[in-house]
Amino acid sequence: MVEKKNIYDYSREKLELQLLAIGEKKFRATQIFEAIYKNNLYDFETITTLSKDSRKELAKYFEFSNLMTKDIKVSEDGTTKFLFELNDKNLIETVLMPHDYGDSVCVTTQVGCNMGCKFCASGTLKKIRNLTTGEIVMQVVNINNYLQSMSRRVSHVVIMGIGEPFDNFDNVMEFIKIINDGKGLEIGSRHITVSTCGIVPKIYEFADFPLQVNLALSLHFPNNETREKYMPVNKKYKLEELLNALKYYYNKTNRRITFEYILLKDINDSLEMAEELVKLVSGLNCYINLIPYNETNGIFKRTSVERRNEFFDYLIKNGINAIVRREYGHDIDAACGQLRAKNIVESK
Ligand code: SAH
Repeated sequence: MVEKKNIYDYSREKLELQLLAIGEKKFRATQIFEAIYKNNLYDFETITTLSKDSRKELAKYFEFSNLMTKDIKVSEDGTTKFLFELNDKNLIETVLMPHDYGDSVCVTTQVGCNMGCKFCASGTLKKIRNLTTGEIVMQVVNINNYLQSMSRRVSHVVIMGIGEPFDNFDNVMEFIKIINDGKGLEIGSRHITVSTCGIVPKIYEFADFPLQVNLALSLHFPNNETREKYMPVNKKYKLEELLNALKYYYNKTNRRITFEYILLKDINDSLEMAEELVKLVSGLNCYINLIPYNETNGIFKRTSVERRNEFFDYLIKNGINAIVRREYGHDIDAACGQLRAKNIVESK
């Protein structure tokens, strides 16, 4: 008996190679993609575009793996948080955010995270393992199934859930190819955003990736001294190196970079910090997303609205594009590892 492979692990090009290897025709990869991603089928028997023999043969080699939905919480603003169980019983979470421009999904890429950012709830749960490509794809597929009854589909994907996507680079890139494929979920590359804490060599690789996907950089601090105090990744990759990598990305893709900046009371929210921030990013085609901190532990506090407005005004006055991120799903702990962290603590 061969061990069956999860069909959701394969981009169309990789599936074509697998099909050739088992004596099937290459073009079946397109038929399979259309069936599973356009028509939401999840059993070879039901894929009637394939011959009966092919269906039988394919079922010997491939399986439709799935995630078990353990919990769905819907917020007053429509944000919906899914808690999924993987085959090995690990839990992950995925958030759906309905917007006026479409339905956006925030996917998780790892079980836990090893980056150790001090302010982040996800970082308190150490990485257990990377998610497979299929496990990331299935998050989107499951939410598409959920949306189907309302005649909606996932239109945007942000890779900003638990985990560091560039610490699981290959699987995340395969995931992007699959959801972007015109014969599959067909989510436009401009509707896909990857967020990283700044793993420099991977930013270069990402810039060379053939699809023009958006990049968000979790900056949060405008100088090395403070950044490395709260984000260990900065000990390895300093801001100067990071900025060079981002310039390379911009020159290759012409895509505007988003800097994420969580405002933490009395830590990075002074006007001096704003001044350093302006100096750091000036000349780059970017915008700054000011993020209200979600208080997940007792140490860090959120910046007051007055201070936030001063900070914001300073950036704007100095010619920097900035926005304050709207908060979603506050009433259901929809931000950053909270649901999973809570479930794990509660089940201890
Ligand atoms: N590892 C990636 C993606 C996951 S974190 C990254 O660092 O970008 C997604 C975003 O949420 C990051 O910008 C992260 O810094 C931010 N974040 C983490 N904890 C938060 C909190 N408690 N409140 C608000 N944003 C938070």
